[in-house]
Amino acid sequence: MSDPSLIRAVKGMNDVLPDAMPRWHRVEAAFRETARRYGYGEVRTPLVEPTPLFVRSIGEATDIVSKEMYTFVDKGDDMLTLRPEGTASAVRAYLEHAVHGQEPVSKWYYLGPMFRRERPARGRYRQFWQAGLECFGDSGPQIDAEMIEMVVSLLASLGVQDLEVLVNSLGSRDTRARYREALRSYLSPHEARLSEESKQRLVTNPLRILDSKSPVDQEICASAPSILDMLDDADRAHFDELTATLGALGTKFRVEPKLVRGLDYYSRTLFEIQGKGGELGAQNALCGGGRYDGLVKELGGPDVPSIGFAMGLERILLALPNEASARSLDAMVVVAEPSLNVKAAVMLKQLRSAGLTAEGDLRGQSMKSQLRRAEKLGARTVVILGGAEEARGVVQLKDMRVRHQQDVAHDAVVAAIRARLALEGASHDGAAR
Ligand code: AMP
Repeated sequence: MSDPSLIRAVKGMNDVLPDAMPRWHRVEAAFRETARRYGYGEVRTPLVEPTPLFVRSIGEATDIVSKEMYTFVDKGDDMLTLRPEGTASAVRAYLEHAVHGQEPVSKWYYLGPMFRRERPARGRYRQFWQAGLECFGDSGPQIDAEMIEMVVSLLASLGVQDLEVLVNSLGSRDTRARYREALRSYLSPHEARLSEESKQRLVTNPLRILDSKSPVDQEICASAPSILDMLDDADRAHFDELTATLGALGTKFRVEPKLVRGLDYYSRTLFEIQGKGGELGAQNALCGGGRYDGLVKELGGPDVPSIGFAMGLERILLALPNEASARSLDAMVVVAEPSLNVKAAVMLKQLRSAGLTAEGDLRGQSMKSQLRRAEKLGARTVVILGGAEEARGVVQLKDMRVRHQQDVAHDAVVAAIRARLALEGASHDGAAR
């Protein structure tokens, strides 16, 4: 039994400890670098927004707004919500700063935590991290294809294998309204067999029934009408050009007319990238996105066609091949006796100022224990401060890989460590060849 007096993290919200961080940093750095190459600049918006922002943009009938938002009234009686996604905030900021009046096209990226009170499972959390892009002012379809191609390249560069890219078009608002009615007419005679959730959705949001995980719902939906058959000429031409551009870019995809997503603001292009490998279970949607041509206007701005996508960092990490997270410590400073601790502190400062990663263990442990710790931390060299050596103005430098040890003068330690690290690099290169 765990100690009931111990305060634990909120259910579905996770700590990430330093050992796990190198993998996170690798994904974040790859995302930032890719976004930069494609012309996106970072935007940071508050984690908390006025509740109506999400109700108006994501849609009242969606699961997110109707069931999953963390909403509270603050001490000033304002109704606030922890952001469940990034697009609504980005659009709010875009309008608040009148960015549309300053440049015709804006390309933004963001990275940060989102909050949804979903049922926690592997790959599904109540606080999760998203990295996303928004492009305002370009009606596509080339920018749509570029965004899909960019995400696929990013995931491939990270080593995420076995991807499937699904694309669809939801057409314009009118098309969607006509499709909603067609779907209702098709599904109504089957209502008695639908799952309880789908029965409700038949009234509130019939498109989401296509998304149902229930086998009976899926069987019923198999012969449902396709939204692609209802597109008008302009929507059809947009979608055809999107698929042609993806083909020209060499990005493999599958057209999935039943792809719908949990947010109401989408129009025309919709896409999702699913993963199969790694430790991903049922939560295999790595990222999703689409066009939201009406949203900027809906939130009180001009008509600005836009597209965005977001990927869940936890899911990307589950899909990544398992590699040992390599610790990197250039030098460990070890003392023969505690009276040398001040000298060790000065040595550590000297090494770190020179740009080396260095650690010391100045808790008064035995030499043997300090050396064991150096081993554990993966130190490539050990700088040993001893009484006799200090009297001669030298330290012992030990190369942990070849177990070679030599005396080095204090002011030559940095250069000697660098030489050892360079030697190691050269022999790695040799081994790789
Ligand atoms: P969405 O904002 O719903 O379009 O989701 C975009 C991506 O965010 C998904 O493909 C997932 O990778 C991720 N995601 C959404 N909800 C969660 C969640 N509850 N836990 C973890 N990741 C999530």
